[in-house]
Amino acid sequence: MNQIVDFFRRLTDTDDWPARWFCGRWTDFHGWLYIASDLTIWLAYMAIPLILIRFLLVKDGVPLGRVFWLFGAFILLCGLTHLIDALMFWWPAYRLNGLVRFLTGVVSIGTVIALFRYFNEAVGLRTSKEYEHELSYRQQALHELSRSNEELQQFAYVASHDLQSPLKTIENYLALLERKYGNDLDDDGRKLIAVSTGAAGRIRTLINDLLDFSQVGNSADFTEVNLNQLVEEILNELQEDIQAVGATVRVGHLPTLMAHRTDLKQVFLNLISNGIKYQKPGAAPELDIQVQNQGDTYRFAISDNGIGIEPEYHERIFQVFQRLHGRNQYPGTGIGLATCKKVVEMYGGQIGVESTLGSGSTFVFTIPKKIKTLKHYAQADPLYSAG
Ligand code: ADP
Repeated sequence: MNQIVDFFRRLTDTDDWPARWFCGRWTDFHGWLYIASDLTIWLAYMAIPLILIRFLLVKDGVPLGRVFWLFGAFILLCGLTHLIDALMFWWPAYRLNGLVRFLTGVVSIGTVIALFRYFNEAVGLRTSKEYEHELSYRQQALHELSRSNEELQQFAYVASHDLQSPLKTIENYLALLERKYGNDLDDDGRKLIAVSTGAAGRIRTLINDLLDFSQVGNSADFTEVNLNQLVEEILNELQEDIQAVGATVRVGHLPTLMAHRTDLKQVFLNLISNGIKYQKPGAAPELDIQVQNQGDTYRFAISDNGIGIEPEYHERIFQVFQRLHGRNQYPGTGIGLATCKKVVEMYGGQIGVESTLGSGSTFVFTIPKKIKTLKHYAQADPLYSAG
């Protein structure tokens, strides 16, 4: 114990030994060869950890970062032993030399253990070649996905579009039948025509909704969309319905987004018209449209004082054709919320509802301030333009 205390007390004391120049017989050439080599090794051992530290600071998320730090300390200490060895030619601090060697030994063993421990993890790390391979696979998949999406949209568009023409003929002929022979028919006959006309009308609405759904995200050509102006335009279009039920709509200060105007219009139009439609009988709808700034996203909330939705249906209503009410109770196709979800998710946001039965609903959705859709990524991809 006494030896240890004495060791540390006289750590830099050099009285007990001669400087290395006077220990044995050195020629100038031999001594300076030793010193110059030690100093060169020390400089190199200093530079390597500095480069490693700079690498760790510049590059985020380097795998096995702790092993890098340990490796840096190991090399630094090795360098220090060489520096002290060179200095010993004038300054025989053998105790300090011993201590530095001891520390180097401890850190070296630590590094060896760490390398053993992380060996498997290091083997599991992907090389840049493997990453390149995966990236190219993903680019290919993205390209395929975009192409099949476009085909599907095209199919839905053409199918719905082509259905419009025979439907128009049916509607025209029903109107003609009514006009020409309406007076000759009895009540039952007229009722049949009215029911058929109503059914044709519903098919038209369904086709239009499907067309809207298929067109969502069809264009990556974005323009500035002033949401306050957009909501005003929607409220003007819904003016008749609003007046019929005496609805009031409060609109907060909404932002301007770089987006596809029709996509955003679908979202606001569906949510606002649902807020007006799903109302308790005899009550006047009160809607509130607000937005919150949340870092790099906007959080929109459209609330109403309507019939509300039971929690068990909160997710299901966003699926296509999912309706909670009969057509006679509340008309609709069950496509509106699915369209909203499609737009919001394609824009990188999320949509949901907060509601309990009988006490109104708040539809909440987020939209990034800088919207980038899959189409944008695909267009920026050389594989996409090549394909
Ligand atoms: P649609 O209104 O054409 O039926 P949506 O997709 O817009 O289709 O809505 C799906 C279902 O979600 C509706 O049938 C209705 O049951 C429910 N819903 C939507 N909005 C509201 C709302 N504001 N309040 C209560 N229920 C709603």
